[in-house]
Amino acid sequence: MIVSKKKKIEELSPYIDQYNSYFLIGCSECASLCGTGDEEAILELKEWLEKEGKNVTGWFIAKTGCQILGTKREMSKFKELIDKSDCILVLSCGAGTQTIMEFFEDKPIIPVNDTLFIGNMRRFKEFEERCRACGECFLAITGVCVVTLCPKNMLNGPCGGYKDGRCEVNLHKKCVWIIAFNILEKRGDIDRFYESLLGPKDWSKANSPRDYVAKEKIN
Ligand code: SF4
Ligand code: SF4
Repeated sequence: MIVSKKKKIEELSPYIDQYNSYFLIGCSECASLCGTGDEEAILELKEWLEKEGKNVTGWFIAKTGCQILGTKREMSKFKELIDKSDCILVLSCGAGTQTIMEFFEDKPIIPVNDTLFIGNMRRFKEFEERCRACGECFLAITGVCVVTLCPKNMLNGPCGGYKDGRCEVNLHKKCVWIIAFNILEKRGDIDRFYESLLGPKDWSKANSPRDYVAKEKIN
């Protein structure tokens, strides 16, 4: 999932000061799981805006904010209310916000959230970064994402600075290479691990901006 957090009110205030009426759009996917785009988040923002003397013309929660055509269809039902609004506030990740931007080139669109990372939810509203979308997944070799979890981006074994199994950069975390080693040892895969050290990574696969068209069959 894409993890997002709400901006602080003082970060939003300079934008809010400029306009009088707002339409709010949330997202029912990742942003809802993060508590940044669900009904509760929308109503909290609506209440705050109204306390500030602003007019909230309406709101809706997109099913999947980053799904461009589906969101456009959903938004068409609210066209009249959106047209009456000075500005749209989007409670989603950056991708969802840009869906809305595509359709309203002449209207100010303000992201209410900051987009943080691709992660997993350990407990309610507790997230861990797990994947940097490097474009070439080798979890099958390492068993844990060394690209994301090693602060020095060591891709061919530990840096040698680990102490008692802890990362020298962050002593609260285990060295990811020790984790990888333990996982592969449990699987009886250690030999393959040594044989398949990753070598130089092809970072061109992680260059932005990236486009991708899915094919129907596995290629
Ligand atoms: S190896 Fe790359 S694609 Fe796989 S989990 Fe790590 S960052 Fe993501
Ligand atoms: S101690 Fe391990 S996780 Fe930390 S920087 Fe070195 S190799 Fe990476």
